[in-house]
Amino acid sequence: MKAIWYDRFGAEPTIREVPTPHIHADAVLIKVGATGICGSDRYGWHGHDPDISLPHVPGHEFAGAIHQVGSAVSRWQKGARVTVPFIQACGRCQYCKDDQQQVCLHQQQAGFTQWGSFAEFVEVRHANENLIALPATMSYSEACLLGCRFGTAYHALLHQADLKAGQWLAIFGCGGLGLAAIMIAKALGAKVLAFDPRQSAQDFARSLGADAFSDLSAYTESQILETTTHGVHVSMDAFGDGQILAKSGRILRNKGKHLQVGLLKPSEETLLKMDRLVGGELEIIGSHGIPAHRYAAMLDFIDHHQLNLSRLIDSEVDLESSIDHFIRPSNQVAGITVIHPG
Ligand SMILES: [Zn+2]
Ligand SMILES: [Zn+2]
Repeated sequence: MKAIWYDRFGAEPTIREVPTPHIHADAVLIKVGATGICGSDRYGWHGHDPDISLPHVPGHEFAGAIHQVGSAVSRWQKGARVTVPFIQACGRCQYCKDDQQQVCLHQQQAGFTQWGSFAEFVEVRHANENLIALPATMSYSEACLLGCRFGTAYHALLHQADLKAGQWLAIFGCGGLGLAAIMIAKALGAKVLAFDPRQSAQDFARSLGADAFSDLSAYTESQILETTTHGVHVSMDAFGDGQILAKSGRILRNKGKHLQVGLLKPSEETLLKMDRLVGGELEIIGSHGIPAHRYAAMLDFIDHHQLNLSRLIDSEVDLESSIDHFIRPSNQVAGITVIHPG
């Protein structure tokens, strides 16, 4: 099969013929219909993810059709249109039994712990536990976003931060994750302040209903504290920068929650004034993907609010032209790039 492949971190990937995966008994092989390029793919390519061993095929948010079914898979058949959370849970550990599969002890992640979806085919482990059937009306391009960016934002805001209608949310970083978070928060009835230095990202954030700023200056800080009546309820790092937690501390109201979703480089430190954490009883909450059992409610949420996920997509490309989008993301472009490998 054709795949995007690299054998050194940071070196330009190539498109080459690689062996199609021989699947495990608990797995299915999916013919990839669409797969999104996510910041975590670049994070891994730069060598920041210890789960990746070389050579590697990246790609972790995808949707497609089942091409082959492992001998221990009972619930799925060839031809089904499916997607999967980027965390493929084991289904057996205590966290899985407690319905917290997103922190499974034995999780597999296509694109990190094994080869991923920037390829014609990808193996999905523990298929009985992790696959989700797609609604007939949902395209592969829209569905692939559920596995990481949209699903991660949905789980973070609804289940981890418990964001409510009428509350204020600050979002730092308006890439795919931040833009998906704006779409979800507005559907919930929250009020959104978005921060991104790129003009195109600010324009995109405004088109989804957020008030957008380039950064948190002393002036915007005092404006925000006044407009929100003493600060936002939730502040989300959707980019991954050590400075953002400190910025959250400046604009969170007492009892406010900082939501950490973006990944920091392993060497990066973060600074929060601990007296602010103590005096305001702030909370710092991590959020990691979304478990498969939450998809039914998420698909209902999308349907109920008539969310158009294709609004988050900037461009759709084939495998041949995807490498540039992967390694040289344009500062001028906001929104998600989707690859169609077939
Ligand atoms: Zn587990
Ligand atoms: Zn991702």
